[in-house]
Amino acid sequence: MTVKVIVRGALRDSDHAHRAYDPTEHVTPVDGDAPTSVFVSVRPHDRSTGNADSSRGREPVVMPESGPLVDRYGRIHNDFRISVTDRCNLRCVYCMPEVGMTFQPREALLTFEEMTRVARVARDLGVTALRLTGGEPLMRKNLPTLVQQLSALGFDDLSLTTNAMLLAPMVPSLKDAGLKRVNISCDSLKPERFNSIRRRGVLTTVLEAMDVVEAAGLTPLKLNVVILRGQNDDEILDFAGFARDTGRIVRFIEFMPLDAQGKWDQSQLMPGKEIYELISSRWPLTATVTDSSAPAERFKFDDGRGEIGLISSVTQPFCGSCNRLRLTADGAIRNCLFSDDEHSLRDLMRAGADDDVLALIIRRAVWEKYPGHAINEPGFLRPARSMSMIGG
Ligand code: SAM
Repeated sequence: MTVKVIVRGALRDSDHAHRAYDPTEHVTPVDGDAPTSVFVSVRPHDRSTGNADSSRGREPVVMPESGPLVDRYGRIHNDFRISVTDRCNLRCVYCMPEVGMTFQPREALLTFEEMTRVARVARDLGVTALRLTGGEPLMRKNLPTLVQQLSALGFDDLSLTTNAMLLAPMVPSLKDAGLKRVNISCDSLKPERFNSIRRRGVLTTVLEAMDVVEAAGLTPLKLNVVILRGQNDDEILDFAGFARDTGRIVRFIEFMPLDAQGKWDQSQLMPGKEIYELISSRWPLTATVTDSSAPAERFKFDDGRGEIGLISSVTQPFCGSCNRLRLTADGAIRNCLFSDDEHSLRDLMRAGADDDVLALIIRRAVWEKYPGHAINEPGFLRPARSMSMIGG
């Protein structure tokens, strides 16, 4: 079979500056049969604004065909998030409706072999950190088998983001499979509040899982806390105290316009700056120097007891240093949570594409990345897929 990758849609000026696009260069003969066409959408971009302006003027004109995964703004991508399922056992108010969420049929999801193949190609393109997410990744049957396959590829970091409802009993098998770290989401330390935000699940299960994770050495343990004004903002100091008492790194996340219900609005958003001011007025904080591409600004308590992070994706976007690339559970490669541009690696793989084609499409997905997510620009359009469908 021959796989013919056809790029639909206008290319940008800088693409033409590079060279005229010739679809036949992506024809990959596999065994001599009639060609199978796989369409890849490349939409014209007119969003020239954003917040990666610091790299403007240094934009490479030609998409490199070797070397690290770089976009036209010079951002190097080495962090890869793989969503293993779009299903979840919770219905957090900022993420999914209580009822009525539809999920991908099983056959639409990538198999473990397909995910591992994409991960291997990504590793060969310079990806060093892999994070499994969802939906709820632990809902995917036999997850430790996937972790084992991915671990064998030799990434520097291999981690998991989970709501921890199913975590505690799985910790030994995940660790044996090669998992290195876990991030746990938990938006309240009060049982009833936990239920009202997460709608399902039990707080004690999550707290117990934290202990099990630490006892197994899957550390540093980071906690993700989405702060919603009027719902759990009265717990900011409690969470800061929790970080001080436990040594767990609590990361306060701004509510992003990625809920499936489409109910996001600025009034529910608690800006990271306010969170910082509240905590530092009680316990002085000092910013720590970290990897500039990390989403969280990290702060240590001045008295040496613990650390917090602020993920201010909406009010202080970090797009200018973004190094992340995502694979959805149904196999689409995406360069940004907020962009609808995606390319189906699943369709390519199932049509018989070889690794060079996958690598080219991944490279191109990175190359096409917008300078910024533009949430704060007039005319911002929410992406068609919500957080759980993309993989947070
Ligand atoms: N189910 C896993 C979990 O709960 O951690 C992994 C997937 S979840 C989509 C990943 C992270 O995204 C969680 O920390 C969750 O709180 C966060 N999240 C989901 N929707 C969000 C939104 N609209 N704004 C900000 N964070 C969100």
